[in-house]
Amino acid sequence: MKRFIIGQDRNQSTLFPESLEAYIDEDNTVRVVDAYVDELDLFELGFERVNPKATGRPGYHPSVLLKLYIYGYLNRIQSSRCLEREANRNVELMWLTEKLAPDFKTITDFRKDNGPAIQTACTQFVILCRELGFFASTMVGIDGAKFKAVNAREKNYTRGKLTRRIGQIEQSIERYLQSLDATDLQDGDAADIKSSQLKERISAMREKMAELVQLKDDLTASHDKQISLTDPDARAMATSTKAGMVGYNVQTVVDTEHHMIVAHEVTNIVSDKLLLTRMTQLGQSAIGRKDIKVFADRGYFSGDEIMATEALGAIPYVPKPYTSNARKVGRFGKHDFIYQPEDNSYQCPAGQKMPYRFTSVEKGKDMQVYWPNGCDVCSLKAKCTTGKHRRIKRWINEDITDAMLKRLNALPEAMAIRRATVEHPFGTLKSWMGVTHFLTRRLPNVKTEMSLSVLAYNIRRMISMMGAKELIRVIQA
Ligand code: SF4
Repeated sequence: MKRFIIGQDRNQSTLFPESLEAYIDEDNTVRVVDAYVDELDLFELGFERVNPKATGRPGYHPSVLLKLYIYGYLNRIQSSRCLEREANRNVELMWLTEKLAPDFKTITDFRKDNGPAIQTACTQFVILCRELGFFASTMVGIDGAKFKAVNAREKNYTRGKLTRRIGQIEQSIERYLQSLDATDLQDGDAADIKSSQLKERISAMREKMAELVQLKDDLTASHDKQISLTDPDARAMATSTKAGMVGYNVQTVVDTEHHMIVAHEVTNIVSDKLLLTRMTQLGQSAIGRKDIKVFADRGYFSGDEIMATEALGAIPYVPKPYTSNARKVGRFGKHDFIYQPEDNSYQCPAGQKMPYRFTSVEKGKDMQVYWPNGCDVCSLKAKCTTGKHRRIKRWINEDITDAMLKRLNALPEAMAIRRATVEHPFGTLKSWMGVTHFLTRRLPNVKTEMSLSVLAYNIRRMISMMGAKELIRVIQA
């Protein structure tokens, strides 16, 4: 064992420090957790059992359990069983909880029973950061990511999936029945055994079929035509992988200067398209200003949402997605036609004027329709339309999105800023939460989980910017 660093002999007498305090450095993160929770007014925030009952067994003060959870999320120990184990062997946790070690049931019940209060406690940290002047830039990135729920893909059904599954079971039953007919023609014990096995399988298949038919009825009654059996609030979400996932859509608002998550929301709304206004509102209230610049990706582009966001006083920057079918088949897309606001007309690629013709209502939106004269003699017609003439439609409020796209063109770095701002927090949160992401079921519970993760992320950011000692000082100031 020469030339290696040698450990201490296990039989040698050791003098451990006399107090837990001596084990914890002055700039240990656990001291931030302790200081933060001690400064919160837990009664005001709505925590249960802040004031103990006069009778019965004394319980743990909510501050002990809240500290335990925040420490857990900061150190990737999110499950209550792991926290129970750590509380008995982890010196930092012994210091934090003053050697109290609640059992996992107490820990998990605390998270379940105090969801809204825990979420508010996490929001308080953002308020503290705002008071320290951390959100002065007023530029935010908004983004969403899908987080896995406690629900396997096989336990999530849509109408198409159910129909396919029922079809497969019908085919299986048919196959078993044919085998049964063939077996009935045979004699002997082996044939009898096989026959009874087939009957069992057919009966199991019929039971499964009855379950699926019942599910089909439930599905018809559900508002979004989707059912998840393990976590009823989780939804099948499209992801960059073909398979997709069953989970939740987590939205964040991140400030571009310090990369702090100023607001977040967990939803089971599948598309980001309906969430720009809601997230902007949350960002405005977290930052304390209306005139924030909001950067979001193409998934958020929606005329109504952009209009509503501007009505809130914010300035959105959202690129337009390319969804033109004409472009896909090699014909001119809408952006090859230039709008002429002076006389409310378009100019087509052949230089022809396309005057306004009439207004129609499509999906609740007033759409103005334009077309030129002379498409039938145009040399570009094959690249333009298969109809009599090319029509262009314009939403009546399209001036708003046009102005926004012009603003976006004038700020070419906007999308790079957005990417650099919002994508890192999601990567970090997902790696901290592990492969399974959420551990609890139902929307209110996963919201609590995400709040704790976001608080842990923000605490880490603040420590890296200010240092733990300084952060403790400002928390206690
Ligand atoms: S087909 Fe009609 S709309 Fe298209 S380029 Fe020719 S004139 Fe313009």
